[in-house]
Amino acid sequence: MVAKRSLIVANWKMYKTVLESVAYAKELMRQMESAGAPATDQVICPTIPALHEVKRRLSGTSIRVGAQNLDLGREGANTGAVSAYLVREAGADCVILGHSERRSLYGEDDALVADKTRAALQAHLLPIVCVGESHQERLEGETDAVIRRQIGAVLRVLDDESPSDLIFAYEPLWAIGTGLVPEPEEANRVAAVVHDTVRAERPQFDSVVRILYGGSVNPGNVAGFAAQPLLDGALVGGASLAVDQWMLLNQRWGEVRS
Ligand code: PEP
Repeated sequence: MVAKRSLIVANWKMYKTVLESVAYAKELMRQMESAGAPATDQVICPTIPALHEVKRRLSGTSIRVGAQNLDLGREGANTGAVSAYLVREAGADCVILGHSERRSLYGEDDALVADKTRAALQAHLLPIVCVGESHQERLEGETDAVIRRQIGAVLRVLDDESPSDLIFAYEPLWAIGTGLVPEPEEANRVAAVVHDTVRAERPQFDSVVRILYGGSVNPGNVAGFAAQPLLDGALVGGASLAVDQWMLLNQRWGEVRS
């Protein structure tokens, strides 16, 4: 089997104006021209209003762009909603789904995340589906059950035909934006649980599933995660907001894997 290139995804959340997003894209291009592109595949997920312009600025590079959410349906009387097709038309190649902030702040449950994943695939968007346990669930020994439940819900609604690419990001809730991280070996163990679940539910999908770790990844700790055999990349929030840190993080991941 051909080795999969590592994938590092930037989640900018609700940060950066359109102008700031464009300035970042320009600076990223400049740094990649002078330092060389890191040996990772990169995805940048800006805010929806900045998507189109960031995509335009990064055209001609291998960097893909993604949205941070989508709404169900194609078109219709859905005030404020942005469908998978519109996200795609705005320039997105990928979409982050089921992020814990969407689950906790906007009440998204497993069934909705699953439906959104199916909608993303139908619109030819690569879904990056976030799963992870809360601190309390970890203390109660529920981590694996939560992961199996969240992933199972997604797998069960997908068509039988295998997608060409499907990404799960293991993001323990207690690690997001806190500076806390699990031992990299623990993230690798959870990645094994993800694969086990996929093999049990949809064995034909297992070869296309990739697993990212997310939660307080930064240039100082990224090497430990890059060293884990079942992790195919990282989902990065805070440390993706400054170009220098983003570049360094990608370089360090690439160095461990090359
Ligand atoms: C995230 O929000 O997906 C994330 C991983 O954030 P941070 O890296 O800031 O913990």
